[in-house]
Amino acid sequence: MAENTTLASNFIQNAIDEDLRNGKYKQGIHTRFPPEPNGYLHVGHAKSICLNFGLAAQYGGLCNLRFDDTNPTKEDVEYVDSIQEDVKWLGFTWDERKFYASDYFEQLYEYAVELIRRGKAYVCDLTAEEMRAYRGTLTEPGRESPYRNRTVAENLELFLGMKNGVFADGERVLRAKIDMSSPNITMRDPVIYRISHTSHHRTGDVWCIYPMYDFAHPLSDAIEGITHSVCTLEFEDHRPLYDWLLESLGFDVETRPRQIEFARLNLTNTITSKRKLRQLVEGGYVRGWDDPRMPTISGMRRRGYTAAAIRDFCERIGVAKGNSLVDVAMLEHCVREDLNQNAARVMAVLRPLRVVITNYPEGQTEHLLAESYPSKGGQRYVPFSREIYIEQEDFMEEAPKKFFRLKPGGEVRLKHAYIIKCEEVVKDAQGNIIELRCTYDPDSKMGGATAGRKVKGTLHWVAADTAVKAEVRLYDFLLQTDENGETPADFIAALNPNSLEVIENALIEPSVCWTAAGTHYQFLREGYFCVDPDTTPEHLVFNRVAGLRDSWAKVKKG
Ligand code: ATP
Ligand code: MG
Repeated sequence: MAENTTLASNFIQNAIDEDLRNGKYKQGIHTRFPPEPNGYLHVGHAKSICLNFGLAAQYGGLCNLRFDDTNPTKEDVEYVDSIQEDVKWLGFTWDERKFYASDYFEQLYEYAVELIRRGKAYVCDLTAEEMRAYRGTLTEPGRESPYRNRTVAENLELFLGMKNGVFADGERVLRAKIDMSSPNITMRDPVIYRISHTSHHRTGDVWCIYPMYDFAHPLSDAIEGITHSVCTLEFEDHRPLYDWLLESLGFDVETRPRQIEFARLNLTNTITSKRKLRQLVEGGYVRGWDDPRMPTISGMRRRGYTAAAIRDFCERIGVAKGNSLVDVAMLEHCVREDLNQNAARVMAVLRPLRVVITNYPEGQTEHLLAESYPSKGGQRYVPFSREIYIEQEDFMEEAPKKFFRLKPGGEVRLKHAYIIKCEEVVKDAQGNIIELRCTYDPDSKMGGATAGRKVKGTLHWVAADTAVKAEVRLYDFLLQTDENGETPADFIAALNPNSLEVIENALIEPSVCWTAAGTHYQFLREGYFCVDPDTTPEHLVFNRVAGLRDSWAKVKKG
């Protein structure tokens, strides 16, 4: 179980505390995370996972993983597998409590039959269009279906016929018999079973009727002994139906599940809808569900976000009853805080400019000690030799006064090494700068006579003969949001054309040479990077996780 799952006290805990004080739920607290396997999980689901598993941990209870697989047309085992991997990676475990709503199809059918027997459900022959017309509107009550008063016997027979495949898709439905004049449209005789001659990824062709979410969900909760069914706000209007079903079927009020809603997580510059994310994948706008630009858990993992950082983020945003938009800079802040502690420092030059140190002995290499973690110690050797590379943008020929990097006649310190002075700029026939010729101060390295000499700028660098080549992928937001951070209706048109920049020939110090996918580094002065799974021993590939500038920390100091 993940360590940092204790959430700050919130209204959900208050509700649970009150239930416990009132003597309810003597069986212990039991929550569930109920994804529909119709896509990969995203950062919004991470919030729900942390909340549900976190509450269970906090109350010494249990949390189930339940696949809400009642809609066979959109579901797939690929999603079932990815969801399990993602929940585990986030640091949570369901032990043996992995369930599927489809496990309960037989039981759910029996509950529907029981509702019919109790005169609380009927088979309706209205077409979808007619049903819409009968439903009424927010201001007008609905009208009762002409099939509403069928006898129990007739309903039982027709429902059995539905189950046995006697009718075509859409020909008939089973509806709860509640109240067509209820101000809450959800309560106007909602459909609870529909006919769909579709193969299910687990039950195959056994069923041609499938329960609706609103019917399957509360009953699955009750079957599993869930005490608190935590869901997002859009289900608030469905709560009366949730309670009506449990009441109508006679579940004990002291132990039966209770639905509590909280606000969905919305993030600036971020799509949090599986349907839209799927559009990006299927339309080829990204490389796949785990493209490092995707806000999916697998995308964030590949990008180099850590599980600890995501859990930390979910804890900090807390839970609220009102919908709001969280600045994505806060998520990045959590990622930086984690990596700042835990990512080894190395030097990498993304856009190399060759520097020849003319007074450094030819053929000589020395190994300089460099610290790898400012917070927890650890050192490595960095080779230095006569030819090195620095970042192109760290040199300017016509430099403004405040430019403290390298310029003609100017001096800088090479991190962990010597002070160099730029003596000459070499250009090609087109006038492009291709090389700098510098001299170094041999006494300026650590322990030397002039080690303490102050120069304004410090640059990162790599030695030419030992540097390792790497591909580096730089990312920007996938989505350009409006000034309020909202996702525009036509989100495809709002995609950022510059969300990916690939640098083919970056150069990195050789200490990273045998690194494998998932390893994190801070490239000094460049940001946090993570080794991509495309990496092979012959070809290193890095993703930029985040730059070093933390706009969220600044906002907070504000
Ligand atoms: P989507 O709209 O992306 O398909 P969903 O709610 O349909 O999301 P489900 O698989 O049904 O996806 O969700 C599983 C659980 O995750 C539900 O309890 C749902 O309320 C929760 N959840 C989904 N999106 C968010 C979000 N943005 N913030 C918090 N919880 C979420
Ligand atoms: Mg859903």
